[in-house]
Amino acid sequence: MQSNYADVILDITHANVDRPFTYAVPEEMRDTIRPGMPVKLPFGSGNRVRTGWVIALYEAAPEVPWELKEILGPAEKQVSAESSLIALALWMHEHYGCMLSQALKTVMPVKSRVKKRKTKTPSSLPGDSRGEAAEGTAERHHVILNEEQAEAVRQFREDRAAGRRSTFLLFGITGSGKTEVYAEMIREVLGKGQQAILLIPEISLTFQTVRRLEGIFGERVAIIHSRLTQGERYEQFRRAAEGEADIMIGPRSAVFAPFSRLGLIVVDEEHDGAYKSDTVPRYDTREVAEKRAELSGASVVLGSATPSVSTWDRASRGKVRILRLKNRAAPGSRPARVHVEDLRRELQEGNRSVFSRKLRTLMEDRLARGEQTILFMNRRGYSNFVSCRSCGNAIRCPHCDVTLTLHADGNLVCHYCGYRIRQPEHCPDCGSPFIAGFGTGTQKLEAMTRKMFPEARVLRMDADAASGKGSGKEILGTFARGEADILIGTQMVVKGHDFPKVTLVGIMAADTELYVSSYTSAERTFQLLTQAAGRAGRGERPGDVVIQTYRPEHYAVRAAAAQDFGLFVRNEMSFRAAAGYPPAVHLLTLQLSSQDEQLLIRAADILSRILMKEAAPARALVIGPVNEAVYKVHDYFRKLIYLKHSSYDILLTIKNRAEAQYEGKFPAGVSVLCDFN
Ligand code: ADP
Ligand code: ZN
Ligand code: ZN
Repeated sequence: MQSNYADVILDITHANVDRPFTYAVPEEMRDTIRPGMPVKLPFGSGNRVRTGWVIALYEAAPEVPWELKEILGPAEKQVSAESSLIALALWMHEHYGCMLSQALKTVMPVKSRVKKRKTKTPSSLPGDSRGEAAEGTAERHHVILNEEQAEAVRQFREDRAAGRRSTFLLFGITGSGKTEVYAEMIREVLGKGQQAILLIPEISLTFQTVRRLEGIFGERVAIIHSRLTQGERYEQFRRAAEGEADIMIGPRSAVFAPFSRLGLIVVDEEHDGAYKSDTVPRYDTREVAEKRAELSGASVVLGSATPSVSTWDRASRGKVRILRLKNRAAPGSRPARVHVEDLRRELQEGNRSVFSRKLRTLMEDRLARGEQTILFMNRRGYSNFVSCRSCGNAIRCPHCDVTLTLHADGNLVCHYCGYRIRQPEHCPDCGSPFIAGFGTGTQKLEAMTRKMFPEARVLRMDADAASGKGSGKEILGTFARGEADILIGTQMVVKGHDFPKVTLVGIMAADTELYVSSYTSAERTFQLLTQAAGRAGRGERPGDVVIQTYRPEHYAVRAAAAQDFGLFVRNEMSFRAAAGYPPAVHLLTLQLSSQDEQLLIRAADILSRILMKEAAPARALVIGPVNEAVYKVHDYFRKLIYLKHSSYDILLTIKNRAEAQYEGKFPAGVSVLCDFN
């Protein structure tokens, strides 16, 4: 076929031009032009030069009554996408309800008007404390797989040999050696001349995994992470496109690595919330990974110690094959003892401290033996909020619908938009001088720990502490070198890190997450507790975990304490089924937002009427419009409409039909995002 004509999507985010435009292909490009290639072309009456992507090619002229414009030439300095990526973008456009140009930009995120740097790989990873925290993990090159690891690899190999390309769940307890299994699977794929992608939730939390793979595969690895400049990202994608690298490691956007012989996508810590994109299109990286794998004949391996309920559900319906690792891999390492301490009883029995008696005793024991403790607190800030004792009003952010958080430096900070003021001396509403903070956070816990254990060397690691220049890295490095006894922190300390000298983990308040009104709060609680418990006893010394809670009877707490995923997931699935939440049903969430509240109300009304009409014949359930839990953020008001049905296809049809109707009627200044679960 001669490529005489091309359909092109413009790199312009506007609904009016969000469709393919047909151009003539100049003679000299007819042999080289390919779907996915970025090109320059004249557009509009003024023939301004624009960039676009070729999505289809034809031999015969399309029947149009005007003369077609001609493509000017290839656009330079853009990595051209694999044609499978174009297909992926079209699928994302449909599935996530975003514009074509937005979908294309997402799969081809690297735009370059930037200078290349000479370095081949980004020189230093954020949070990198190589040779400090890693203690040989990254450097040891040859590990002999144990029986269960080898069995997992064997099943993967067999599946590929049979040409099946299944999606696997590598379900292995913390410390079971999942990284070595990934490495062996990647080696297998590379050995067949193919390429691999390893997705991780956030590089600074998983740098040991990254280092280990770099140690094994060296120069063949391309790495992207959030602190790279545009130019550095471009360089990594270019290396992948030009065959200089055949393994791409990175957070969710690495799923779009421009590989043409993709054989495997690994999604490490698949349950992690970071895999859900928070910008348009709001894609779920695991879904995109599976779609991409399907389009390019690759396998998918999802890895976790605490699989997401949705993945588990798919496994139980035979859509995902489970590979189990039930034992810790490092010789002599064994799971920690878990103690559940009821904080209500502590108080009844006269203990008013934030430390249960059990935790205090064990901490004293560790200090005496020179071993380390991690205290985990699921909340940052010194106190939760500041309120007036006279009129009862809490001090709120003027731009968002939340209370401000008091920090130890005396500032009140909005955790949604970053707004910051000094703590006022008088109530802004009534002038009373009696204003005070409530609740506890990491900074307050640090102060209490220093008071309770004056001899101990205490460190704190939370988003505030880590945001200073390189300080996250320094804090973890100091702790890993044994220069501190106690590390206090939020989520950041429980994920992925391997501190062999830690033999005690205290979870200060296991249930804070349970009070968040989301149907996934029990799931997140279980994951967090299990991951935190997995930090103790990674080395050869036995570990203890103390879970402090007000709700020891809750199944998420009991299951985490017993390290029993089955117990958790049975309870959780019956809750989801009874309450009508995913994965028992499919849920489409439409978020409407606007700076103008009246417009928003009107738009939500129009949309919900259309949805009701479209949903009725299929008996889909429409809920809302309701205000978001935090109604106003950054001066934008937000409303939600939910749609529920047992069939995903029906939801998608309703959404597409509704979209076709409201687009014309919709007031400008209101935007709609959709999100499938
Ligand atoms: P996971 O990711 O499953 O939590 P890791 O991959 O971090 O576990 O492995 C935990 C520890 O076990 C690491 O220190 C790793 O080097 C070690 N390890 C993994 N596999 C083996 C093996 N086959 N023999 C000995 N040690 C191993
Ligand atoms: Zn007041
Ligand atoms: Zn704010």
